[in-house]
Amino acid sequence: MREDLIGAEILDWYDAHARQLPWRVPPGSAERADPYRVWMSEIMLQQTTVAAVKAYFERFTTRWPTVGDLAAADDAAVMGEWAGLGYYARARNLLKCARVVVADHGGTFPRTEAELLTLPGIGPYTAAAIASIAFDEPAPVMDGNIERVMARLFAVEAPLPGSKPVLKDHATRLTPQSRPGDHAQALMDLGATICTPKSPACGICPVIEHCAARAAGIAAELPRKSPKKAKPVRFGYAYIARKPDGAILLETRPDRGLLGGMLAIPTSDWSDAPAEDPPVDTQWHDPDLEVRHTFTHFHLRMALRVASVAQDATPTRGAFVPLAQFSPKTLPTVFRKAFDLSRGVSVDGARRNG
Ligand code: SF4
Repeated sequence: MREDLIGAEILDWYDAHARQLPWRVPPGSAERADPYRVWMSEIMLQQTTVAAVKAYFERFTTRWPTVGDLAAADDAAVMGEWAGLGYYARARNLLKCARVVVADHGGTFPRTEAELLTLPGIGPYTAAAIASIAFDEPAPVMDGNIERVMARLFAVEAPLPGSKPVLKDHATRLTPQSRPGDHAQALMDLGATICTPKSPACGICPVIEHCAARAAGIAAELPRKSPKKAKPVRFGYAYIARKPDGAILLETRPDRGLLGGMLAIPTSDWSDAPAEDPPVDTQWHDPDLEVRHTFTHFHLRMALRVASVAQDATPTRGAFVPLAQFSPKTLPTVFRKAFDLSRGVSVDGARRNG
């Protein structure tokens, strides 16, 4: 197999078919990719679709156009803008990383994969993506799309994740010294638009002539995957307390741990057998409704509790936020689900819609 030939064909295809994305510099442009924008997009794209990321990326880069602006931002403002995008450790690391870039690197991103790897929240994938796209280092960039293309192109039948080193070896040999960033983005696009997981469009693929899986008739079966362990289920309670003037009880989650630092509806702990832990002493009602949400490592099921409290009620934790200052959009999805569910419930816990 001629790696240089395949690399050239992939780049030719990219020159004609590159996706236009807000963080991307089109092929052939004299402009250089901005490492700040590459970094921001790659962090947002982890576990999240391009379609979902676009609006967040535009808002973040409009509000904080440089890494210095982001480093100087209020934590709460950044966490609020991130709300709804999920995987909130990314937002905390985004801030940490911006502040390290400013404090230790004079506000300029380091240029090599090895140096980038020392920054908070930057793992092997993101370091390689920034180094190759913004600084032309021929570092192979491995994400799910590129792993799939490599598994098929070279007919790697060993299952993931064990096959990762072999797939990376293939990607390394394929990465050209010239335009490695465009090569990486070309493979991302190929995986996202043609060599898709379920039904690859081999008929319009620029590397069909070189594809071993296609020749063997096993393209759609690759990459194989080792069976996943079932996710455990955790349980909990979510407490919606409101005052007669509409103020709602909210709290900020502890900095460390899941959804750390985010604005939240108060809840009990999340475990196999959680104890009730109401945030204000009042009569709580059980409308027999459950909030369901899936995190990376577990499914969560929380029983909803609702209460209407006196105007002068004092919570044991959190604070009542006036109706005019509360926007459900600033809540992470799991708490927004709880809030939305509570809207169909009257103050005595009865469901309004039967
Ligand atoms: Fe993927 Fe088909 Fe192209 Fe092979 S020929 S790389 S399976 S789209």
